[in-house]
Amino acid sequence: EELPPPFSREYDFLVVGSGIAGLTYALKVARYGRVAVVTKAHAAESSTRYAQGGISAVWDPADSVESHMEDTHVAGGFLCDARAVEVVCSEGPGRVRELIELGARFSRRQGSGEIDADAGEIDADADEGGEYHLAREGGHRHSRILHAADMTGREIERALLDKVRACAGVDVFEHTFATRLLKAEQEGCAAGSPAPACLGVDAVNTRSGVRSRFLARTTLVAAGGAGQVYPSTTNPAVATGDGIALCMRAGAAVTNMEFIQFHPTALYHPESVGESAFLITEAVRGAGGRLYNLGGERFMPCYDARAELAPRDVVARAIDDQLKARGDTHVLLDISHRDANEVLAHFPNIAAHCKEVLGLDITRDRIPVVPAAHYFCGGVSAGLDGETAIGGLFICGEAACTGLHGANRLASNSLLEGLVFAHRAAEAAAAYARADAEDRPGALAEGEAARSLPPVAPVWLQLSQEAESTVAELRRELQALVWRAAGIVRTTESLERGLEGVRDVRERAPAAQSVAAHELHNLLDTAEVIMRSALQRRESRGLHYTLDHPEQSDGFQRPTTLGEPECEHTTLWLDRYYERVVTETEAAAMCSD
Ligand SMILES: Cc1cc2nc3c(=O)[nH]c(=O)nc-3n(C[C@H](O)[C@H](O)[C@H](O)COP(=O)(O)OP(=O)(O)OC[C@H]3O[C@@H](n4cnc5c(N)ncnc54)[C@H](O)[C@@H]3O)c2cc1C
Repeated sequence: EELPPPFSREYDFLVVGSGIAGLTYALKVARYGRVAVVTKAHAAESSTRYAQGGISAVWDPADSVESHMEDTHVAGGFLCDARAVEVVCSEGPGRVRELIELGARFSRRQGSGEIDADAGEIDADADEGGEYHLAREGGHRHSRILHAADMTGREIERALLDKVRACAGVDVFEHTFATRLLKAEQEGCAAGSPAPACLGVDAVNTRSGVRSRFLARTTLVAAGGAGQVYPSTTNPAVATGDGIALCMRAGAAVTNMEFIQFHPTALYHPESVGESAFLITEAVRGAGGRLYNLGGERFMPCYDARAELAPRDVVARAIDDQLKARGDTHVLLDISHRDANEVLAHFPNIAAHCKEVLGLDITRDRIPVVPAAHYFCGGVSAGLDGETAIGGLFICGEAACTGLHGANRLASNSLLEGLVFAHRAAEAAAAYARADAEDRPGALAEGEAARSLPPVAPVWLQLSQEAESTVAELRRELQALVWRAAGIVRTTESLERGLEGVRDVRERAPAAQSVAAHELHNLLDTAEVIMRSALQRRESRGLHYTLDHPEQSDGFQRPTTLGEPECEHTTLWLDRYYERVVTETEAAAMCSD
């Protein structure tokens, strides 16, 4: 039987990923040219879709950008990039307003101050108006979280996808897995850019195995995080670090990969260990939820004066400590002392899920919870316009490290980061594409750079069933070893052993000839940079805690970057980056009232 030929397409703008970052960017660049979005599952599948708590923005006139900035710096262990913080906190409200104009509906206060429980439902009726209900979460000193009940991400993803699907200039390719960034090695092959330059991606249709090539003037990687490198994670199955691995292989640097946020309260379900864990948003703690160990003791006040409202890393470590000390499998979260109607109005999704899977009534029963890998503060090193070391390659969202989160992310800042930097990257990419079109007029495929690329093989050779089951076993083995080596509490020895384990799994890994095998290689690359970064940071700060260096040290008041900056351009912006890191003394002064 004759094999179908690989298809090659050309666009001005190529986007990998269809979460908040990719879709926001796609809508913005559609004004300037033709756009392709490639996404490896169905378009809505993303971490964005599962976000519950909300999106932070200074909304209340009594709140201020300065206060949001201070909270971000404090949560970030004073390792945040000061300019990234300023950009996100000051530009954030405008970007959220655009999201609302686009059709996203957030919960509003009703006359009595109650929450409108309908917001967040996909088929919600027309917006009734009224003030937005602003929630408060751990680490925020002000109520500034806009939310759609406890299904904020679902509502944002719906609004963005509706617009993208209605936009004639954007083609969405679902079930299309990006396997490789195409890079031209020659100097000056794309406009205004340092060499090397990105020419697009090779991809494969995950259903048919047919390969394809997408050539583009600019490429945005917005492929999300890598929670699947841990055995317990709140992230969906698509979060396998593909964006980070793709960019690293193409020569981009990565920053702050040691800072991984473990959500303290994922639902504990003894029968679903190893699957994506259901998140109990910290808005439950914000609304007064209390944590108890299985002995019935409320333990958080013993660890931190802020008790359950302490930042996530503090709460996650306290739970980890309780579990290890008592040998328990989980702790309990209690919101039953609050008004039942209010609880049901604010947390309808959590209430329904707990009822369905565990038969629990959260207005009366305590909820069993455990920590789970949740968010990567680090990622591909990005400038303030999402630029990377590679010309024409932009990075945005959770796959990027803009420096906003420093050593720890303030709750609800990541959706906002995706939104703000998607806008900035879109403006920068539009300028880049314009210049590139002048330098490389005509069909991209006929250009010298594209013609020098290796040809695409028509179809993906499938692995045998036996090889596929080896891949699945190796993935579980890798997840377990990453948890032991680079979990909530680390040691130098655990990290060194972890690296040996990664090498060992890598040697046994089948070739990347299927989606699962490709993901395994991406997870291996991600695991390796987590451990290497963690070994470099010989102190404890924010989300990185090592028993060998339990104190914070001024000598490590800087981001950890791995990978050689390849060109002057990168060196320049990395220099800027270092300058921008606020010193601890400055930040402390800024935070004093
Ligand atoms: C359960 C949960 C709750 C959360 N709650 C909040 C919250 O309340 N507030 C907040 O601010 N943040 C929250 N977060 C974090 C936030 O949702 C994410 O950081 C953010 O949505 C990331 O957006 P993104 O666009 O960068 O990536 P994602 O939304 O993860 O999208 C990535 C996209 O890339 C695609 N992709 C990946 N690899 C490939 C590939 N090789 N080829 C093609 N496509 C690929 C995926 O299929 C997906 O479409 C939460 C996260 C989770 C998991």
